[in-house]
Amino acid sequence: MSSGARRIGRALRPTVKALPEHARAHNRSMVLATLFHDGNSSRADIARSTGLTRVTVSDLVSDLIAEGLVTELGVKVEGKVGKPATLVGLDAKAFEIVALDLTDDSELVGAVLTMHGELVTRRTAPLEGRRGDDVVELLVALAADLVDAAASPVLGVGIASPGVIDQDGRVVQAPNLGWYDLPLATLLTERLGVPVHVANDANTRALGEFTYGEAAGSGSMVVTIGQGVGAGIVVDGALVVGKHHAAGEIGHVTVLDDESAQEPGACACGRRGCLETVLSVPALRARVAGLDPQDSDAALASVGRLLGIALAPVVSALDLGEILLSGPRELLDGPLLEAALDAVRARTMPVIGQGLTLRMGSLDEDGVLTGAAVLVLSGQLGVT
Ligand SMILES: [Zn+2]
Repeated sequence: MSSGARRIGRALRPTVKALPEHARAHNRSMVLATLFHDGNSSRADIARSTGLTRVTVSDLVSDLIAEGLVTELGVKVEGKVGKPATLVGLDAKAFEIVALDLTDDSELVGAVLTMHGELVTRRTAPLEGRRGDDVVELLVALAADLVDAAASPVLGVGIASPGVIDQDGRVVQAPNLGWYDLPLATLLTERLGVPVHVANDANTRALGEFTYGEAAGSGSMVVTIGQGVGAGIVVDGALVVGKHHAAGEIGHVTVLDDESAQEPGACACGRRGCLETVLSVPALRARVAGLDPQDSDAALASVGRLLGIALAPVVSALDLGEILLSGPRELLDGPLLEAALDAVRARTMPVIGQGLTLRMGSLDEDGVLTGAAVLVLSGQLGVT
């Protein structure tokens, strides 16, 4: 791993028990995951880490070398009398990943990344009011451009889209893009000729924070605040998906009604008083526009309190340990974040609320792209 490489976090717990016929693929993923997280290792190291036999590990490593995913890297001497062992490692240069972020309402953002999540090339395509099929065409063109720009073969394309996305990468609904029941992953796999993985943008950011950032897997929620408000939740080492693939959609929980001191505003979803109507970036900017610093702080704190009220039952139901906010620091990191934490603590059992951390996420604005790269590592290699 180069000195500039990101620190790699822990592996997500597999949510499905491996069946005998899947054992080989499962073992292959374990070997790749060990090399991904531990770095260069001997075959004996891999056998120790995975619990697989030396023979099984040697077989799998030979196959991975033949595929070009793993290379031999010289010899390490273990102890004074130990036999020299050949080190093997993931050939991070063998493949690159293309990632796309469809969160912004004015442009599509895409990048070529290394297998360690480092950004190599970044490109954007302005939406200019496009919707529906026209967005698909623009997306195909940008993705094809990035696949061409990659210096190595592309392992896959990862796409983070707003909206409700099922496990096959079908967009159930993404009203902002004018997409309904759109088999995006299948369609783009055919058009681009490389495997394409699609997931919700908030879930993708949560995966990025978990794999490359510092989020703990025991109970974390990443609240993404941009044009809309969404959240991705990792509990007991697995992403929470939910019955309708819509887990984490807290943006459309009602926080203001006719009884509230504030007038409930109209929401894009057609209802009134949703969390998104006060917490989205445009709503926050409108709220603080023209205010002096003291009034601005008070206005942000009042929104933070509403966020805390919406989060308290979620924190309690799932016993979350930390909540990460992702979005513009100048709006979120301060009175808003503090008021949200106070509100959660005031409304939950001390055993839960007092131990809760509420902080800004550690990935930057390209964190969704990093998460989209994890979709590909996970989908193609079983590595997260
Ligand atoms: Zn709404």
